Amino acid sequence: MEKATIEQFKNLFLEILSEEEVFEGKLAPTSLEGDEVDIVSHEKANQMDFRLKARNAIYLNKVRKSLQKIEEGTFGECEECGVEISTQRLLARPTANLCIKCKESEEKAENQLINRNRASSKVGRVLPIEHLEKGFHKDQTATSDFHVSHLDYQDIVG
Ligand SMILES: [Zn+2]
Repeated sequence: MEKATIEQFKNLFLEILSEEEVFEGKLAPTSLEGDEVDIVSHEKANQMDFRLKARNAIYLNKVRKSLQKIEEGTFGECEECGVEISTQRLLARPTANLCIKCKESEEKAENQLINRNRASSKVGRVLPIEHLEKGFHKDQTATSDFHVSHLDYQDIVG
């Protein structure tokens, strides 16, 4: 990848980080103190806070990791097979850490795991990371039982 292109991604990531940190600051920490009435009346707001924070935390981690890669000179390389991720893919998804081939095989494996989880457990539902990045709050039904799963964690830490 050309240096100028990498520089553009770096600026993009820095921009995201500064914007998101301002945004994070707007979400006042939710107090766990107070009586039950308080807790119930604020439950919805708390849930929204949590979702936004979870979404931000996951995304910001990815952005920070991408910035780190730029510093290390490994930005744009597939973590799985080492090939250069296409610039087109990176433009669409700047924090991509896998090439499209590896991503597809990972998603296949994830879907199999999700299907196994669904069959064996009625607790919660695993949402692929993409749902988080698309602004899942628009789809209440899909997120009413949102859990940060082990799978999500794996996706964050790569
Ligand atoms: Zn790959």
